[in-house]
Amino acid sequence: MERPPTPSVDDGRSIDATLRRTFLTMAVAVVLAASISCLVAAVNLLVFQARVDGTTAVIRSARQAHEAILDSETALRAYLATGDPSFLGPWSRAEATIDADLDDVAAHLGAIDAPASLLVGAIEHRVAYERWDESWADPARELFGADGALEGPELEARLADGRALFDRYRAAQATFLVEVQERRDGALAAQGMAIGVAGGVGVVVAAAMLVLARRQRRRLREAVQGPIEQLTSTMSKVAAGDPDARPLVSGPAEIREVARGLDTMIESLHVQRTALAEREAAMSVLARRLDQILRMSKEISGTGNPRYVAESATTAALALSDGDRARLWVMGGDGTTSLLHDTVLAHGEPVPVRILGAGEGLVGAATAEARIVHEELIGSHHVAWPLVVGARVVGALEVELVSPPDEPTVEALTTLAVHTAAALESARLYSENAELARVDPLTRLANRRSFAEDLEKEAERSARYDRPLSLVMIDLDHFKRLNDNYGHPFGDRVLQSVAQAVEATVRNVDTAYRLGGEELAVLARETDLAGAFHLAERLRAAIAEALSLDRGDPTTVTASFGVAELERDRPDTTHLVAAADAALYAAKRDGRNRVAAA
Ligand code: GH3
Ligand code: MG
Ligand code: MG
Repeated sequence: MERPPTPSVDDGRSIDATLRRTFLTMAVAVVLAASISCLVAAVNLLVFQARVDGTTAVIRSARQAHEAILDSETALRAYLATGDPSFLGPWSRAEATIDADLDDVAAHLGAIDAPASLLVGAIEHRVAYERWDESWADPARELFGADGALEGPELEARLADGRALFDRYRAAQATFLVEVQERRDGALAAQGMAIGVAGGVGVVVAAAMLVLARRQRRRLREAVQGPIEQLTSTMSKVAAGDPDARPLVSGPAEIREVARGLDTMIESLHVQRTALAEREAAMSVLARRLDQILRMSKEISGTGNPRYVAESATTAALALSDGDRARLWVMGGDGTTSLLHDTVLAHGEPVPVRILGAGEGLVGAATAEARIVHEELIGSHHVAWPLVVGARVVGALEVELVSPPDEPTVEALTTLAVHTAAALESARLYSENAELARVDPLTRLANRRSFAEDLEKEAERSARYDRPLSLVMIDLDHFKRLNDNYGHPFGDRVLQSVAQAVEATVRNVDTAYRLGGEELAVLARETDLAGAFHLAERLRAAIAEALSLDRGDPTTVTASFGVAELERDRPDTTHLVAAADAALYAAKRDGRNRVAAA
C-alpha cells in the first residue's frame, strides 16, 4: 500500500487546533502592525508635527519682526534725511510690534524645546536688533529735537554707523532664520521618514501575513488532502472487494477518527464477507453432494444389475469424500459378506473372490451391528456404513479416507448408503425374479420357458453355421407308482436327485431342462444323433446310479430316453421335439429303461 505524503500538521493535532493556531498568529501579526502604526502616528503627531509647527511659527514671527524692523529702519532714515517728524509715526508703530514679534519668537522657541545653538542664534539675533535700536535708532530720534536736521558729514557719519549696526543685525537675523529653517526641514524629513518607516513596516507585516496565510493553507491542505485521498482510495478498494484494504491511521485527529471508524467498518465487513463466503462454499458443497447422490440414485434405481449399483455407489462415495478407495460388500444368507466392487479395479476387470466371515473386520462389525464403524489406521481412516433395507442389512459400503470424515461427509455418505441399499435390494429382487422366470424351483434346472427360447436360438444358430444340434427327452418310468408307494415329497427328492445327476453328467456346452412333471430334456450343442445317443446312455447310467444311492434299491426307478437330431435342411423345432417324443414313446413301448433314437 502506498504511503500518503507526510502531513505537515503533526499527528495528533486536530484541524481545529491548526486553524486556531493560524488565527492566533494572524491576530498577533495584525495587532503588531496596528501597534506600530499607532506608535509611528503618535511620534509623528507629538514630536515631529509639533516641531514643524513650532519652527514654522518661529519663522513667521521672526519674519514679521524683520518686516517691522525694516519699516522702522526705512522710516528713521527718511526722518534723518529730511528731518520731517511725520516719518516718526510709522517708526513708532513699527517699533510697537517688533518687541511683540520678537517675544513670540522666544515663546515659540521655548515651546519647541529648541537646541542650545538655536537659542544662541535667537539671542544673537535679538541682541543685534537691540544694539541697533538702542545705540542708533533711539538716539537718532532724539538728535532732531530743536536743532533740525543733521547735515553734511555729521549726518553721513550717523547714517554709516546705523548701516553698520543694521548690517550686523541682518547678518544675525539671516543666520538665525537659516538655522530655524534647517530645524524645520529636519523635522519635516524626520516626519517623512517616520511615515515611510510606518508604511514599510505595514507592507512587511502584510507580506509576512500573506506568506503565513499561504503556508498555513498549504499545510492544512497537505494535512487534510493526503489522508482524505487515502481514505477515498481505501473506500474504493473496499467497494471493489479488496480484502486487504486498510485506511492509514495518520493525519489530523478528526481524519484519524474517521479512519478508525472506517477500519472498524471494514473489519466487520470482512468478517461478514468471510462468513458469507464460508456459508456459500458449504452450501455449494452440499448442493454438489446432493446432486451427486441424486444423479447416482437415478442412475442405479432402475438397474437390475447389482454390480452396476456397486460400481456407481463406490464411485459416488469417492466423489463425496476425500476418500481414495471404496468397496461395496454384499451380505450372503449365512452372515458372510462378499466383495461386489472395489474402486481400485479397472473398468471391466473381474472382481476377485473375497468373502468375510460373519462379524469379521470393520465390514463384519458394521453389518453385524448395523451401525457406522470407524477405524483409524496409519495414514488413513477406514469407515464402513451398513446398507440397511427395512430391518435387514444387505451389505456394507467401506471407504478409505485421507482424513477423519467431517459431519457433512458422514451425512452425505449415510444418505448414499440408504440409496445404495435400496438400489442393491431392488437389483437383487429383480435378478431373483428374472432367475425365477427361467429356473425350475424344485430342481434348479432351466424351465420349459428357457427350453423353448434356447431351442429356437440354437436351432437358428445350427442352421446358420451348419452345426449339429440334438435333443434328448427324458421321462421317468412308472413315476406315478413311486409317488403312490412312497409319497409325493419322496418323489420330489427323487426328482432333485435325478436333476443333479443329469446336471453333473452333461458337458458345459449342454443345457438340462425340466419340462414339467417327471419329464426332463437336454439340448446337446455341436452333437449329432450318435453323440446324443451316447450322452443319453451315460445319463441313463448316472440316473440309475443316483437313484440306487438314494434309495438303496436300484431296480425300482429308471428313465426312458428319446433322442433326435435337428435336420439342418429343415430346422423346424416342432419337428425335432416331435421326433424326440416319438423316440421316447418308442422306448417306453419297448420296455422302458432304454434309449431310442428317432
Ligand atoms: P410311464 O411314464 O413309465 O409310462 O409311467 P408314469 O407313472 O411315469 O406315467 P405318467 O407319465 O402318466 O405319470 C406321471 C406321474 O408323475 C404323475 C405324477 O404322480 C408324477 N409327477 C408329476 N410331476 C411330479 C412332481 O412334481 N412331483 C412328484 N413327486 N411327482 C410328480
Ligand atoms: Mg410322464
Ligand atoms: Mg413317466
